[in-house]
Amino acid sequence: MSDSVSTSQDAAASEAHELKPLEVVEQHLQQAFDCLQDLDRGLIAMLSQPKRVMNVNFPVEMDDGSLQMFQGYRVLHSQILGPGKGGIRFHPQVSGEEVAGLAALMTWKCALIDVPFGGAKGGVTCNPKCLSENELRHITRRYISELGDNIGPHTDIPAPDLYTDERTMAWVYDTYDIMHRGRNNLPVVTGKPLDMGGSQGRLEATGRGCLYTTERFLAKAGLCDVESIRNARVVIQGFGNVGAVVARLFRDAGAIILAISDTQGGIFNEDGIDLDAASAFKQAHGTVVGLPETRTITNQDLLGLECEILIPAALSHQICCGNAKNIRAKLVVEAANGPTSPAADRILNRRGIPVLPDILANAGGVTVSYFEWVQNIENEQWDLSEVNAKLKRKMYHGVDVVFDRWRQLAKITTPTIMETVVKPIQNNQDTFPSLRTAALVIAIERLSRVTLERGIWP
Ligand code: GLU
Repeated sequence: MSDSVSTSQDAAASEAHELKPLEVVEQHLQQAFDCLQDLDRGLIAMLSQPKRVMNVNFPVEMDDGSLQMFQGYRVLHSQILGPGKGGIRFHPQVSGEEVAGLAALMTWKCALIDVPFGGAKGGVTCNPKCLSENELRHITRRYISELGDNIGPHTDIPAPDLYTDERTMAWVYDTYDIMHRGRNNLPVVTGKPLDMGGSQGRLEATGRGCLYTTERFLAKAGLCDVESIRNARVVIQGFGNVGAVVARLFRDAGAIILAISDTQGGIFNEDGIDLDAASAFKQAHGTVVGLPETRTITNQDLLGLECEILIPAALSHQICCGNAKNIRAKLVVEAANGPTSPAADRILNRRGIPVLPDILANAGGVTVSYFEWVQNIENEQWDLSEVNAKLKRKMYHGVDVVFDRWRQLAKITTPTIMETVVKPIQNNQDTFPSLRTAALVIAIERLSRVTLERGIWP
């Protein structure tokens, strides 16, 4: 199973081509740095650059006997708060630049949600849809062996990401374990299968984290059009590891899932999609498109649907300057990493559409990864209710600190958004801080504080 991904590539393409992933990170960061005038310039430079970048080229023998070269990457962005942490993705668009940008996101995410990890990311440029299980296993094993001791339970800990899953993590663990016999290697990777050190609740943790952040935000923010998830119309882009879980959990919480999508396109039903039928249909046909009693729509149509909550759970750069003006949701919840471009972010902010940023909304995955790592080190297995209760506490706390910091940055004294914030933004206050800026400010403050407490060596 993999993160099935929808692509609104036409609209996203021009901006994505112009803006490199690292530049996206820099633009988002700049807004946070602007709020932190006292921050040392050297510290800013330090936080902006990855600590270590690895590129590996390696051969794999394919099923037909041919030999094919693959490119892999692992970027360790920061170890200030602890060992590097972040997923491994298999996708044709994986590049060193993309991985570096995503590694930085992991640093901010871990700092914000307060797990003792730095940020990292890895990937192999390949098309998993065209590879057999055998070939995927060979790629994974060879990639991990090439990374050698650059990963480890206390240095850099991989996890699943786009088009990688429990099975991939089992191969990662096994390869590393063969290379390091005679010690507890379980904490070298998270997102493992349950019977080999995986955690209860990890599989659905990203989606569950999205649910908890949305729930808490709605309770705090007082958006007049969206009081709660119950009866909210929800549109989800992507129906893979994250999107399918998000859809199910939001439906179970009483939402109407108006539309979902995958790489082939989207489907819409104003009374709500039958998700069990959609999953079965996707299993049988490889796509949700064509599900009876639904209307087929494009990914662009899907993003522009009128709804209460829009959840991009696919690739990055799906909401871009070309389509941000068409968004008719009351709230955007970023289940994917980097789905909103900086230009789109500014447009949505100006239009008064709050965006729960990726480093908060999708931090449930890395949070339960942290729980898995702790369980592996302590040789324990927590039950599902314990994991979910701990996750909920972390996510609620994350929303609380971001919301409070945002109100402080925006100089809001009343507790709700609508009366005091959205209207002024609609009056075109372009410099108004976003929730993303507030989240980044918290992360950067934590990282700079710890850097100074540790001191620069030597
Ligand atoms: N790939 C996930 C993310 O982007 C999870 C990372 C992890 O668990 O280390 O947050």
